[in-house]
Amino acid sequence: MRERIRVLPPETVAKIAAGEVVERPASVVKELVENALDAGASHIVVEVERGGKRLVRVSDDGCGMSREDSIKAFERHATSKISSVEDLSSITTLGFRGEALAAIAAVARVRLTTRPEGEAEATEVRAEGGKVTDARAAGRSQGTTVEVRDLFHNVPARRKFMKSDGVEGDHVLDVLTSYALARPDVGFRVFSDSREVLSLPPAESLGERVAGVFGVQVFRELIPVMGARRELPHSYDEYPLSGCFVHGYISRPSLNRGRPSHLRFFLNGRWFSDRALDQTVLEGYGELLPHGRYPVGVLHIEMSPAQVDVNVHPAKSVVRFADEARVRGAVLDSIRSALATAASQPHGVPGRPLEPLPFKPSLPPRVETGPVQKTINGAEAPHPPPPPEPERGLPEMVLLGQAHNLYIIGQTKDGIVIVDQHAAHERIRYERLREQFSSGGVRSQTLLAPRTLELGARERSALEGGRDVLARLGYQVEEFGGRSVVVKAVPVVGGAAMPAESLRDVLGELLESFGKPSRRYEARADRLLKLMACHESVRSGERLEPAEMRELIDALYRTQNPFSCPHGRPTMIHMSRRDLEAKFGRSG
Ligand code: ADP
Ligand code: MG
Repeated sequence: MRERIRVLPPETVAKIAAGEVVERPASVVKELVENALDAGASHIVVEVERGGKRLVRVSDDGCGMSREDSIKAFERHATSKISSVEDLSSITTLGFRGEALAAIAAVARVRLTTRPEGEAEATEVRAEGGKVTDARAAGRSQGTTVEVRDLFHNVPARRKFMKSDGVEGDHVLDVLTSYALARPDVGFRVFSDSREVLSLPPAESLGERVAGVFGVQVFRELIPVMGARRELPHSYDEYPLSGCFVHGYISRPSLNRGRPSHLRFFLNGRWFSDRALDQTVLEGYGELLPHGRYPVGVLHIEMSPAQVDVNVHPAKSVVRFADEARVRGAVLDSIRSALATAASQPHGVPGRPLEPLPFKPSLPPRVETGPVQKTINGAEAPHPPPPPEPERGLPEMVLLGQAHNLYIIGQTKDGIVIVDQHAAHERIRYERLREQFSSGGVRSQTLLAPRTLELGARERSALEGGRDVLARLGYQVEEFGGRSVVVKAVPVVGGAAMPAESLRDVLGELLESFGKPSRRYEARADRLLKLMACHESVRSGERLEPAEMRELIDALYRTQNPFSCPHGRPTMIHMSRRDLEAKFGRSG
């Protein structure tokens, strides 16, 4: 009998494999944007023509590639991100399978132009039919541009399944808004048929980015989700299963949609979809939502990569949790407590920032000379603080006092402002730290009695890799032998020396942030600064004198983003006179 089983020719194999990664233009955009983010880009520009069917072009200012790498990148299973199967349990990059560029080149015409850091020349590589057809010297600034033309030109069956330009374009935009929500620190600009359809400058906080993506109006209907980080991981080895941190924004029940697609989940900065989690969120709302309606939401889950499998599907859009029940429990808890907090606030007074920057100012600038103001600008203040910058929508206020050693209350022209003292302090400290960090290093204090700390193995490795950044953060650490180190100096945050133990938290964050070489140093260092600004040790309820309150408000107003703390919680809420009148039934 004749043999009936045949081994397929390589081109056919490549096209079949490509089908798992590239389904439509949006998948191309997803893979290219992931690559740009993995390359540490801080600005990404995406251009599409005809919904991406004719052209997808993604440009970044990331680390770029050498000539050799830019050719190798098109081979199947060529990746710089993992080197062994063990690495699969500690993935901190979005890509790792080394398939995307090969897959895209199998079904489209690709041109990649790239220039790595510190090299004078760029390389332009062309690939088609899965093969590199040309590589030559070219010009461009540091970074990478990948141009993908005529998707599925050689796979008629697939081409037929693409939808109209409009539908495909919508999918592309969906992907891009998702990544914009995954990484608020990265700037995104998107053009469709030469028209700019999305422009998002790098944001200070998730809140600011959410407002940019959904618009201020929707943002106003959102409430922050701020799951308590139950225990900070000391290292991945010690990361407890429950060490899962959920934060983001969800809509008040009054804002709801007919489909769950307005709920977006992110795991350690990776966008993923999960039907079960959609249901968990619904469960969190319980009776608050009408049947068949879904909330709008952006939920970031952060946990040890060792507790998640992201290698479930070639498109990497599904994740599998080692302990799914705990993750669902954490999501459920955080949704319920966010809704409960919102419900306990007076109706019509959402716990939201007044106006997220950089949106329109609503009030005229100018410092009001209220009673408290006068005492400060009097004799004891040698340098009266400069007035807040104009055009930022900051409410002028006359300070009324402090409540519970926690909140500062002020009267504004059209209502009342309540400032969360802690959140305000965090914002101020964070911006000061950032300034010090970028100009030589965080202020540091030598310990009279150096502290010996015993570190875990992974913490030790974080210490090795992070020496420079630790020094700039204000920690002076020396080896002691074995697993012990001696902490000789610590950073000064908010006027007080951090405890030596805080080094563990910083190392924990370092492990997450610097695990892979392609992550850009500055952006990652920012997370450490946030951690320090918000460290437990520098928090406490504090009675403030009027002058101190004024100082705090002035300092807050001088920050670049006075409306939210470094993690995106609001620093102030505003109750307008209208809100108050409605509450007291005076409006009718
Ligand atoms: P993966 O992302 O899974 O590693 P890809 O096929 O997407 O696989 O990319 C292959 C390799 O090409 C990456 O590992 C990376 O080294 C390099 N690369 C791809 N895109 C970029 C980019 N925009 N900037 C820098 N390097 C890139
Ligand atoms: Mg990739």
